[in-house]
Amino acid sequence: MSIQLPILPYSLDALEPQISREALEVHYKKHHQNYVDTLNELIRGTSLEDKSLEEIMFLSFERKQKIHNNACQVWNHTFFWNCLIPSGHEPSKNLTEVIEENFGTVEDLKNEFATAAKALFGSGWVWLVKDKWGKLKVRSLGNAGNPLVDLGEIPLLTCDVWEHAYYLDYKNERAKFLENFWEIVNWEFVEDNLKKENRRMAPQIFQPKSRASVPNEYRM
Ligand code: MN
Repeated sequence: MSIQLPILPYSLDALEPQISREALEVHYKKHHQNYVDTLNELIRGTSLEDKSLEEIMFLSFERKQKIHNNACQVWNHTFFWNCLIPSGHEPSKNLTEVIEENFGTVEDLKNEFATAAKALFGSGWVWLVKDKWGKLKVRSLGNAGNPLVDLGEIPLLTCDVWEHAYYLDYKNERAKFLENFWEIVNWEFVEDNLKKENRRMAPQIFQPKSRASVPNEYRM
């Protein structure tokens, strides 16, 4: 069994004008595909070969950095595509209330997201997560960072702020990309993630950082 590039949930030009067909094509068919191919090469013939993507992310954590980074990049991109939708709309009344409880207003959430994206030096991802106490938080994680494995938190929404995600359309203007990102956010996906206690997304998600915390059945 090998890890597959997931099907994009819309056509390549569906996110225009916020993300051009050209940019999405390179991002999905070259970058995402490359993480999939590299991961498959790295796990071939190893004990990770038959594991699920989530198991690989956890099992390689702090042990096999190259495998871990590629596995997380495969997962993060798949999650990112699902966070987007052609001509997005506003969050539902219910989700708006949850956001207001946690951030004040939806605008405050967007501002916090923008600040986190701006502060992230180099490549990485900005996330909206549900933490261990059920509170919503904005997190920025460098490179292949992933809240499930790095923090034990449930990802609700992400924006890829690697330069390859926006350079073709926005050149160096990360902030402009972030601004337009909100117009294509799939808030229904965010709300679905909020409902999940979410053990389906990873073998275990409340045990970050330490290898000792990986349950026996997932130990190598
Ligand atoms: Mn990317």
